[in-house]
Amino acid sequence: MTTLRNLPSVEQILQTQIAAELIARNGRPLTLNAIRSTLDEIRARFKMDPEPALPSIDLILAQTESALSAWTKPTLIPVINASGVILHTNLGRAPLSADTIRAIDAVSRGYSNLEYDLEKGVRGSRLIHAESILQKLTGAEAAIIVNNNASAVLLVLSALANKKRVIISRSQLVEIGGGFRIPDVMKQSGAKLVEVGTTNKVRLSDYQSATEDPAALIMRVHPSNFKVIGFTEEPELKDIVELAHKAGIFVVDDLGSGTFLDTAKFGLIHEPTIQESISAGVDVVCFSGDKLLGGPQAGIIVGKKELIDKIRKHPLARAVRADKTCLAGLTATLLHYLKDNAEREIPIWRMMSFTLKQVKGRAEAWIEELGQGQVVEGESTVGGGSLPGESIKTWLLSLEVKSPDKFLKKLRNQNPPIIARTENDRVLFDPRTVLPEQEGALLVGLKNALKT
Ligand SMILES: *Cc1c(COP(=O)(O)O)cnc(C)c1O
Repeated sequence: MTTLRNLPSVEQILQTQIAAELIARNGRPLTLNAIRSTLDEIRARFKMDPEPALPSIDLILAQTESALSAWTKPTLIPVINASGVILHTNLGRAPLSADTIRAIDAVSRGYSNLEYDLEKGVRGSRLIHAESILQKLTGAEAAIIVNNNASAVLLVLSALANKKRVIISRSQLVEIGGGFRIPDVMKQSGAKLVEVGTTNKVRLSDYQSATEDPAALIMRVHPSNFKVIGFTEEPELKDIVELAHKAGIFVVDDLGSGTFLDTAKFGLIHEPTIQESISAGVDVVCFSGDKLLGGPQAGIIVGKKELIDKIRKHPLARAVRADKTCLAGLTATLLHYLKDNAEREIPIWRMMSFTLKQVKGRAEAWIEELGQGQVVEGESTVGGGSLPGESIKTWLLSLEVKSPDKFLKKLRNQNPPIIARTENDRVLFDPRTVLPEQEGALLVGLKNALKT
């Protein structure tokens, strides 16, 4: 009779060549753990089975190996973005420039002068990195980098408006995404919200009456991801600034994405630039590092020195500080703007600058390689909570398959996974968001998915 006593022991399994290889690859404790859990499963199955049989030692090892590969498989991996959404928040927003990656690599490999003053040989501050570049780019007196823009907003309000009134238009009480709501963040900072105007209209006089009681500041939030059209009104930023300064209070501008380049140049509506906010006299401006800036995740705060100093000293500044890889990467990305080569070097701007002819040429080359498909007109979008409703004309590869949803799933199972979209029962691929160096892998994955 087959009994569990005939099951190979852990010791016996460990003596095999395959076990030795698994240990070399995964370490002894984890391999042991996987062998034990495989044996436990076999025992449990054995007891439930009316006609129990014992697996061979090879089968046990195969099961151990698949447990180990499931346990050690990274969950965060690169994907190919053929969706046509340039700043896809779910796909990690901005791909980085070559210089940015080099800077991150260099600072990660060893030690750096993160908080060390090389001139004096004493402790320095991490907050000075990227500051002089930001001063030159924006015209602001001072700057500080934090973990992301959500923490920038929280920090700015905590430092400047705790227990004080903050005036904000009802048209700007937005949810940015992932449940991040401006009014909630403002409350979290201890600020007292004073809402003025209506959803579609706010006038200077609304701000004026709110400043009659003492307040810390007027907050302006760029309603990044939606657009109110029709019967709307909003005062000019410089007029809000003038009113605020007369009342002796500050203006904080959360630009969300923010940009240094004029998006109108790419056939899009004009997204407010950081320079415009600073020249309108705004006291503190904050924006993201990984939206239209095209760099690593970061929150950037620029503005008047006196206020930035106050923000730096707030205890939350330590809690949300940027790490060395972020500071190194962001500096490299900012340098592209300073050297006026952002359009050439920063992937998101390169994607936006592709001509229709270039995009079409790539889609046609893919079709030639695949031996099937059509080139159809379509639209790419910017995404990342910027430029809602705006799109860039593009050419797409369109594939006709039996079941588009099943095909999308097959594409997601490729290595690297391919993210595409469907429309009218066709699967569409936008060359604009596929990095040129991923083109080979895209075609391999596509052929694979078409074969099966
Ligand atoms: C995106 C956005 C944020 C949050 O920025 P993260 O860098 O994603 O943290 C805050 N405010 C506005 C207006 C935004 O658009």
